[in-house]
Order: sequence, then C-alpha cells, then structure tokens
Amino acid sequence: VSGTSEFEAGIFGPDLEEALRACGFALGHHPDSFMYSTLGGWLATRSAGTHSNIYGKIEDMVLALRLATPTGVLTTRPRPAASTGPDLNRLITGSEGTLGVITQATMRVHPLPEWVEYRMVLMPSFESGCEALQKCVRKEVMPSMARLSDELETELIFASKHPSHGAAKWLGKIIKHWLRFRGMTRPCALFVGFEGPRRATRFVRDESMSILRRAGGFDLGTGPGQKWTLSRYDVPYLRDCMMDYGVICDSFETAALWSDVIPLYRSAKETIGRVGREVTGYPAYVGCHISHLYRTGACLYFTVGVQAREGSRPLELLEQYGTIKAAATTCFVESRGAVSHHHAIGLEHQAWIAQEMSPGGVDSVRALKRHLDPSNVMNPGTLVGGEAAGPGHR
Ligand SMILES: Cc1cc2nc3c(=O)[nH]c(=O)nc-3n(C[C@H](O)[C@H](O)[C@H](O)COP(=O)(O)OP(=O)(O)OC[C@H]3O[C@@H](n4cnc5c(N)ncnc54)[C@H](O)[C@@H]3O)c2cc1C
Repeated sequence: VSGTSEFEAGIFGPDLEEALRACGFALGHHPDSFMYSTLGGWLATRSAGTHSNIYGKIEDMVLALRLATPTGVLTTRPRPAASTGPDLNRLITGSEGTLGVITQATMRVHPLPEWVEYRMVLMPSFESGCEALQKCVRKEVMPSMARLSDELETELIFASKHPSHGAAKWLGKIIKHWLRFRGMTRPCALFVGFEGPRRATRFVRDESMSILRRAGGFDLGTGPGQKWTLSRYDVPYLRDCMMDYGVICDSFETAALWSDVIPLYRSAKETIGRVGREVTGYPAYVGCHISHLYRTGACLYFTVGVQAREGSRPLELLEQYGTIKAAATTCFVESRGAVSHHHAIGLEHQAWIAQEMSPGGVDSVRALKRHLDPSNVMNPGTLVGGEAAGPGHR
C-alpha cells in the first residue's frame, strides 16, 4: 500500500528484483555490479544505479535500517518524512562496514514500469551533448537513464561492435556519409532510457528527444539502445583480467556541479593522459562518459587503459597504477569534483577524505566509530581509518 518493502541486507540484486517483480514492483537500482552485489553493499557504499536520474541513489531509496554493531543494535523506523534530529539512515549509509553490519533495510519501491524504451542518439560533440542534457534537466524532462560518451569512448564503442552485413552495413555507410555531410566527423554516443508510467514517460521521451534533436542530435532509434541493455553487465568485470596481461585499466568517477563539468572533464582528460604516458612510457586511452544526472550537476566516469612500463612486475604495475589514480583524484578535487560519486572511499580515497568532509568531519566520524566499535574490529583501516593509507595504496 505504501510502496515500501523490507529485505535482509545480504540479498543479491537479481534475487531482490525477482522477488519484487513477482508482486508487480521494482526497486530500480541497477549498478554495473548488479549481478554480484548485495543490498547491504549498496547501502554501505552509497551506490548509484543506471536509473538514478529518476529513482535516486540508494541512500534516497532507504526508509529504515537495522545496524548490528559491537556495542548493540541501532534501528530506525520507516517514515515518509520526519523531523527527529540528525538522520541516522544517512549516517549509516556510506559507513562502509566500519560502524557495524547492516542486516535489514526497508526500501521505497515502485510499480513495474509500464513503458520501457532505450534509444541511441549521436551528438555533435561532448560539450553540446552535455548542454542538451542539462537543458532536459532544467525543463524537468530528464531521461531515466542517460549515458553520454565522449568522442574517444564513442570510437571504442563502434570499434568493438559486431561487424554488420547486408542491408544494415549499407545503411550504416549511408548514415556515416550523412553525418559527415552535416559536419559530424567525431560524434558522441548518447544512450538514453525512459521508463515509468506510459503517458508521463512518453511525454518525457518526446520532450527530451526534441531537445536533443534541436542540439544537433541524430536519433539512431531503439535498436542500438536495446543492444546496450543486453551487454551492459559484460564489460566492467574485464578490469582484473586486463591487469593480468600487463594493461593498467580502471574507471575513475566523480561528480561536479554543472558549471564545473566541462572544465573538470578537460582537465582530467589532460592530466590522466599525461601522467599515464609519463609513468608507463606508452600513450594512455582515456575515455569518459556522463552517467548520472542531477538537478545541480552530473557524474563523470573516466575509463583508463595503458600498457604498463616494459617488463614491469606486478608490484611495479600497481605502483604505476597508484600514481595515475592519485593524479586523477587530485585533479578531481582541485577541479571541485567529488572524491567519489559511487565507488566509495575504502582505502584508495582516504588521503582526500578530509578535503571532502573537513578535518572536523573526519574526527566526528572517527568518534562515532570509537563509540560503536571501541575495539576497532569493524572493517578496520577503511573510510576514516586512522593511519590513512596514501594515494594508490591497495
Ligand atoms: C565491475 C564493477 C562495476 C561496478 N559498478 C558500479 C556501479 O555502476 N555503481 C555503483 O554504485 N557501484 C559500482 N561498483 C562498486 C560496488 O560494486 C558497489 O559499490 C556495490 O554497492 C558493492 O556491493 P557489494 O555487495 O559487492 O559489497 P562488497 O564489495 O562486498 O563490500 C563493499 C563495502 O561495503 C561493506 N559492506 C558490504 N555489505 C555490508 C553490510 N551488509 N553491512 C555493512 N557493510 C557492508 C564492506 O565491508 C565493504 O567495505 C562496481 C564494482 C565492480 C567490481
């Protein structure tokens, strides 16, 4: 009746959605790690799913929590809204296992969407795509999912797609010529998704597609969008395998206000590319996409790939990785971006946490941890762990 559902926190993504689907509901939280991650993990890291534009990040969906700590159990109660002191749900989400174990959560759920549609649009440039998405946000017609790749990432997407044959191949050639004729020599792929109640969602789709077209977007239709949904969980898990072959490879993510998005993008591309080459001696691939939209800004997601220095042993490869990672995070912070938008702090981002929440903020979180976990047995060393690990520590 109220659109809430209570779960044990160890439930995995697919099981959770399947249980809800049987009752005609969905949570709508689909991080790229969906297949192998849990509700407790999502809450502990303040995770973001692909459709966060309409459903919010995981911390926006939680109504009540149960946290088992070494000194006792903390619980909050499900309320639509409340004015009852500091919001304990917000303190527990993002605690990364350092305060206790989240054992139960009451989540806001919604009816299964009546309308689901994915499209792919080619935008003339990353900047024009970004501006058009911002316009969609301002006009309150934000797609439920938007993923705008920059020129380089778009080239990688097209280079890794299956070759087409017959009519599809000819159609592809005609489209390429037409785009060139219109001056679109290095287009940027934009995947957009629309889901929700039929009438309202079609309205949002029509309005946002019209904004994208006015910004020079070329609509490739639902076919490529649909294909993306089939392979979306395949690529992210390649990282460790690539590392085994001597390729330093990772994704670095941040979030910034709209006014900072493009300056941060340019500065991070330059920094990561330059430092990647300096430490390895090889040119680095640095692709980027915008992956989550907010009224006030967006999440930028950089994918980096570069061959490690010739003859590097595993520890040397990790050292080179650490230098590139540190340069990227420092650049994000200096460009007024978040240390992390959804990958959380862990060990790798600790060196920058005081810049994010101020030294007083770090001390306060440490004091809370000391109170709930006096023997420091809950995920010691993580988040605000004391002897902060330096940049690149693994
Ligand atoms: C390939 C790949 C793709 C990813 N894509 C995304 C993405 O699109 N969006 C996104 O937000 N994140 C993404 N992530 C990061 C990560 O998967 C998510 O943050 C996810 O929320 C972690 O959940 P998990 O169950 O795997 O937790 P784990 O990785 O097992 O744990 C993560 C942290 O949470 C703590 N924790 C786990 N469960 C609990 C609990 N019940 N109570 C208290 N603490 C707990 C652990 O101690 C640890 O500190 C990705 C990761 C990978 C490897």
